[in-house]
Amino acid sequence: MEILKVIKNTAERFPDRNAFRCGDQLMTYGKLWELSGALAGWILEHEDDLSKPPIAVYGHKSPGMLICFLACARSGHAYCPIDSSLPANRIEAILSALPRTWLLETEDCPVEEKMRVITITDDFLNALPPRSTADEEGQWVRKEDNYYMIFTSGSTGVPKGVQITRSNLEHFLDWSTGFAGAEGSEEPRVFLNQAPFSFDLSVMDLYTSLACGGTLFCLDRTVQADYRKLMESLSSSNVNVWVSTPSFAEMCLADPAFREELMPKLDTFWFCGETLGNKTARKLLKNFPKAVVYNTYGPTESTVAVTSVQVTAELAAADAPLPVGAPKPGTRIEIRDETGSVLPDGKEGEIIIFGDTVSPGYYGQTQPIRSAFLDGEPRGYQTGDKGYMMDGLLYFCGRMDDQIKLHGYRIELGDIERNIIKLPFVSSAAVVPRRRGGKITSLAAYVVLGNCMKERGEDEARKEIRHGLAALLPEYMIPKFFFFPDELPRTANGKVDRRRLAGGDQ
Ligand code: AMP
Repeated sequence: MEILKVIKNTAERFPDRNAFRCGDQLMTYGKLWELSGALAGWILEHEDDLSKPPIAVYGHKSPGMLICFLACARSGHAYCPIDSSLPANRIEAILSALPRTWLLETEDCPVEEKMRVITITDDFLNALPPRSTADEEGQWVRKEDNYYMIFTSGSTGVPKGVQITRSNLEHFLDWSTGFAGAEGSEEPRVFLNQAPFSFDLSVMDLYTSLACGGTLFCLDRTVQADYRKLMESLSSSNVNVWVSTPSFAEMCLADPAFREELMPKLDTFWFCGETLGNKTARKLLKNFPKAVVYNTYGPTESTVAVTSVQVTAELAAADAPLPVGAPKPGTRIEIRDETGSVLPDGKEGEIIIFGDTVSPGYYGQTQPIRSAFLDGEPRGYQTGDKGYMMDGLLYFCGRMDDQIKLHGYRIELGDIERNIIKLPFVSSAAVVPRRRGGKITSLAAYVVLGNCMKERGEDEARKEIRHGLAALLPEYMIPKFFFFPDELPRTANGKVDRRRLAGGDQ
């Protein structure tokens, strides 16, 4: 598929169809195409760097964000979405990884040095001259060029930018549109968007919806933070396809109203990003008897997801953990041991993904610390995930390193530690996950304080660390618990003994 051609076609055939809805903000396909074209024309006219550097797009869930994304693609640029919930320091880290380029802000961005800032308001967009779209296709992002770049937590304390080409995205969409239930459907399908656009899970709903001529129904962060608003919003959503992390669905399931009566049109659940528990799947199938549930798996580095399986009542009823699915066409999964040998069915090793959705690599990183990508045709990505294959299905068994998922967010524990150590009164720190029923539910930080802070006491230290971290890390990365040992326990070879810390106070 050629995603821009598909969107253009929908805009021409159904200009009044809603492409986007969030609260009372609506945008039709006609407007999306018209305004993104006008903005693309403006970018082309005003750019002086013809190397087509990526463009940062800042904001939350608004029509302006979609207009900017498509305008970048239609003027030959990759875009880098930055959600406005990130703290200034994190935004700065992302912007400084990009070349000095444009920042399209749909809300006021706290960090703008070095960037050419364009404030995207309705007035700005509506004043742009319309663009003739007859001969614009030659300006679009080419198949082999980056279409977007998403920054994820990096173990060195600096986020790393995953580059996704147009070809990667389109191969993903060729597959995802196949199980969106859109074929033969008269009405446009409505897709739920839970994740902010700076997380790759959002690509699953945003672009599958655009590719199917559907409507994206977004839940913004104020709605997600308030149960009453959330249930009200869901009940008026008309959502057909639910896309979220399992954690978000679990949160919704805590409300007894979360059932078919609330969303009678919901017929498909898609999950990705973390383990979908059997109990959660069972509850969903019970509360939404007409819906099908899909578990999907994949990292940002291989464009959202590369495997899927329909979770039947039988699978959900079993004691065994759910599979994460069979590889999509164009993807091959290998399980390898530490020597690189391919393991047979049933044997656990590292999950390696080969195929047409594997990213060309991290942006600007010529020498990765651990060479995660494998050159060749097709490209490969060593996920750092443990798993095994059985009867054509992949099973996920956890991580080989210190990357974790908490409430659906991907976090490198080293990223948090390095930021804690930046605080002037800290000498060293280790962060460990705390689990309940096998699932990570919170983080605990063990922090060795410098003498002056020791004297001020633990309560004061806790307050100061939380305050300091709020400026450095997104909210979801700030540990819930802080402990202040005199020193960190070490293993025989001198490394921090995380196992002892994790076992210490579970
Ligand atoms: P992200 O790049 O944020 O999508 O995170 C990718 C990581 O999330 C993978 O490498 C896995 O560790 C984990 N993950 C993704 N999908 C699943 C799944 N269905 N079940 C368990 N873990 C998953």
